[in-house]
Amino acid sequence: MAKETILVVEDEDEIRELIRYNLAKEGYEVVEASTGEQALTKAHEQLPTLVLLDLMLPELDGLEVCRRLKRDYLAQHVPIVMLTAKGEESDVVAGLEVGADDYITKPFSPRVLTARVRAVLRRGSRTKVNETDMIRAHDLVIHLGRHEVLVDGEPVPLTNTEFRVLVYLARRPGWVFTRYQIVDAVHGEDYPVTERSVDVQIVGLRKKLGDAGQYIETVRGVGYRFKE
Ligand code: CA
Repeated sequence: MAKETILVVEDEDEIRELIRYNLAKEGYEVVEASTGEQALTKAHEQLPTLVLLDLMLPELDGLEVCRRLKRDYLAQHVPIVMLTAKGEESDVVAGLEVGADDYITKPFSPRVLTARVRAVLRRGSRTKVNETDMIRAHDLVIHLGRHEVLVDGEPVPLTNTEFRVLVYLARRPGWVFTRYQIVDAVHGEDYPVTERSVDVQIVGLRKKLGDAGQYIETVRGVGYRFKE
């Protein structure tokens, strides 16, 4: 994997900027979100290595974002560190119960921030990757937690969108999905996914997968399915 990417979710510009500055200085790639909705979209699209999540967000609050991230089939393995205000222990408890991995109490020093981030990255998400988080089909292995695809033990470098399309199909072998369903599942804001571009993704995927590309079957006039 390339540089470690951290998604910083914080509605207060000054705090977000401070965090961004300190993480960037440590060599992390930083993606920012100022609302819960944005956080969900960016986490799903960009699959960060870690999410720093402020709990006090307008509209969709941090707890709800955490809960939804843990239900997102791609983002559920990404560790989440909550940012909480002092004296909000009940929020911390609630956050840990919906799957957050750690928390930092505001105000915090840059050193505490980066130390905590490093520690969580080292031990990984408590949503451990186990056998069920791996899809094995024929000679293909997809590691959901590592976002890695192996064919005959050899890693196949896929783009994010290709990976999402493959996971979406391979999770339900034998099921036919329409192009619209696929678009809906992998849609991204910065990426205009149209029904037509699904075909382009599939062509790219099959090519990269080599012989394993045959497992993605075209169902004429309907869409695609992963071979049973
Ligand atoms: Ca806030």
